[in-house]
Amino acid sequence: MPLAIALATAATLSVFVAFPLLAPGTEGDQLLPVDVTPLADLKRRRMVVYENLQDLEFEFKAGKIAREDYQTMSENYKAEAAGLMAASLEAETTTQGDAWIEREVAARRARRKVAPSPQYLCPECGFENPLPVKFCGECGAKLASRPELRKKK
Ligand SMILES: [Zn+2]
Repeated sequence: MPLAIALATAATLSVFVAFPLLAPGTEGDQLLPVDVTPLADLKRRRMVVYENLQDLEFEFKAGKIAREDYQTMSENYKAEAAGLMAASLEAETTTQGDAWIEREVAARRARRKVAPSPQYLCPECGFENPLPVKFCGECGAKLASRPELRKKK
C-alpha cells in the first residue's frame, strides 16, 4: 500500500511539473491585444452597462417590461455603472501617480547626466568615471585628488 501511495504521489507531482508547459491558457493570454488595460476594460464594461440600460428603457417604453421590474433593473444598472465609474477614476489616479513617479525619476536621471561630478571627470581623455577613483578607468591617467580627501590631510 505505501508503494501505491508513493507511485500516486509521484504521478501527481509529475503532472504538476508538466502542467505549466501544457496549460492551454498560456498561449491564449499572448493572443490578447496589447491595449487591453484594466482601465480600458472598465470603460468597455461601463459602455456595456449603458447599452443595457438603453435597451431596458426601450423595452419598458415598448411595454415589454413591468414598471416595477424596469425600476429595479434600472437601479441595478445605474449602481453598476457608478461602481465601474469609481473604479475607473481610481485606476486613472493610480496610472497618473505612476506616470508622475516615472517623470520624476527621468528628470533626476537627466539632471545627473547634465551635471557629472567634476572630480571623477578624467582631465586626459574626458571619461566620466562613475566612482570616486584615483586613476581613470578608461586611460589610467591620475585624477585630481578629491576635495573630501584633501580636507583630512
Ligand atoms: Zn582618462
